[in-house]
Amino acid sequence: MQEEIIRTIDGRTIDDLVVIMKKHNPQADLDLIVRAFHFTKDAHAGQQRKSGEPYMTHPLATAIMLAELGLDEQTIAAGLLHDVPEDTQRTLKDIKKIFGKDIAFLVESVTKLGMLKYRGVDRYIENLRRMFIAMAKDVRVILIKFADRINNLQTLDALPPEKQHRIALESMEIYAPIANRLGMGNMKGQLEDLSFPFVYPEEYKWMMKKIGPRLKEKEAFMQRFMTFIRNEFNIHDLKVVSVDGRTKHLYSLYKKLLKHNRDLSEIYDLVALRIIVNDVATCYAALGVIHKICKPLKGRIKDYIAQPKPNGYQSLHTTVFAPTQFFHEEAVYGEIIEIQIRTLDMHKEAEFGIAAHWQYKEGRFMPEKMGQKLHWMNEIVELQKQVQDEKQLLETLKIDVFQNYIFVFTPKGDVIELPEDSTPVDFAYRVHTDLGNKCVGVKINDQIASLQTRLKNGDVVEITTDSHRKGPSASWLEFVKTNAARSAIRQYLNKQSRGLLETFSRARKN
Ligand code: MN
Repeated sequence: MQEEIIRTIDGRTIDDLVVIMKKHNPQADLDLIVRAFHFTKDAHAGQQRKSGEPYMTHPLATAIMLAELGLDEQTIAAGLLHDVPEDTQRTLKDIKKIFGKDIAFLVESVTKLGMLKYRGVDRYIENLRRMFIAMAKDVRVILIKFADRINNLQTLDALPPEKQHRIALESMEIYAPIANRLGMGNMKGQLEDLSFPFVYPEEYKWMMKKIGPRLKEKEAFMQRFMTFIRNEFNIHDLKVVSVDGRTKHLYSLYKKLLKHNRDLSEIYDLVALRIIVNDVATCYAALGVIHKICKPLKGRIKDYIAQPKPNGYQSLHTTVFAPTQFFHEEAVYGEIIEIQIRTLDMHKEAEFGIAAHWQYKEGRFMPEKMGQKLHWMNEIVELQKQVQDEKQLLETLKIDVFQNYIFVFTPKGDVIELPEDSTPVDFAYRVHTDLGNKCVGVKINDQIASLQTRLKNGDVVEITTDSHRKGPSASWLEFVKTNAARSAIRQYLNKQSRGLLETFSRARKN
């Protein structure tokens, strides 16, 4: 009997997975992946997706996505195995015995993340809490969950409408913002675009009708423009890695349209040209060439290389009037095109965020320089500089260093990041100095608690204030953890005592 070949919805097989992994790391343990594939396939034998496809298509698609992000073989193996304990006869124990405790840990965490039940409070807060707690243990758990979710969204058609809406909404409101926070722009865009038609069907239809024809025109123009640009770069002896045009993510365009009263003529960047080069100097040189042959729009040149965005994003952006008749004596300018220029490293960072730092280099699992990242990421880099052997390196990549930080929530569900052992007073000052100064009490997870309580990951913190409160108490200095809180308290107290001294000296003069 011939064995059935498993193909994902886009036609890819285990062989494709192996090829992608080899590309990222020639020394990857491919045997492990092939074993995990067959183990999973046997475990899910006979099971089908709602669409009627063999169940195995789903874990395979999940693993391929993780491989494309350049993740390590353990993560990819766990991606294959992620539904085994919950949906098959094989248990977590089996996985641990066959594949070891690290892979079993990842599979277990992904399974738990899916099983945690809604426990009241607000659904949004609850979901965020789950995600962040999982992340605090090992960010790879979240990446597997993202890949799992993307494939589920891609095959959402087969589910009943109610379920479609629930999954899509959760993806848009919980998963996408977290992807964004991790600096994974492309992941965020994919999650939103796949959810869009299920969350806002009417708006989606409207959008497609409105921009569909315009998009076709733009893309046709872009093809000709790209040929022109490549030729110009050749003439100027400028080496580029790639020049390509891409349609912007649909949902982000939609949100932009809403800001401009749905006026499409205000949106210049339906399609953007992306130029990738080898180094920073070439970025500026390429910008020079472009501005020589196109007319830049005023106020649209942005240097995110010199001044990166807060999430670390770097690129040069410009919007130009491109010539519509190429290679003519007299150029005619008309089409407005957005152009992004960046180095290969900046590109990886923008696309893959935190995952970009887990690429293999020279056969080693090497984190790269993080650039301007969230400070907990910087912390990881610092740690890795000090770590010598590989085993330890992998340990730190499990983001145990996350344990130096906790994530807590405001009653509205905003995430506040604090150092471990922070107190409600630290929380209050992190939110706003005024909230700190007027703070009199706190409720943690709806329970009245002391201001000295050490906050824990996932706590919902509600500060009670009193507008008559004169200010912070000097005794708080003994237990606050953050410098921000300490200096705000000191500043307030100093001002108070200066005021008292002045009153005192005035009184003496009189
Ligand atoms: Mn799954």
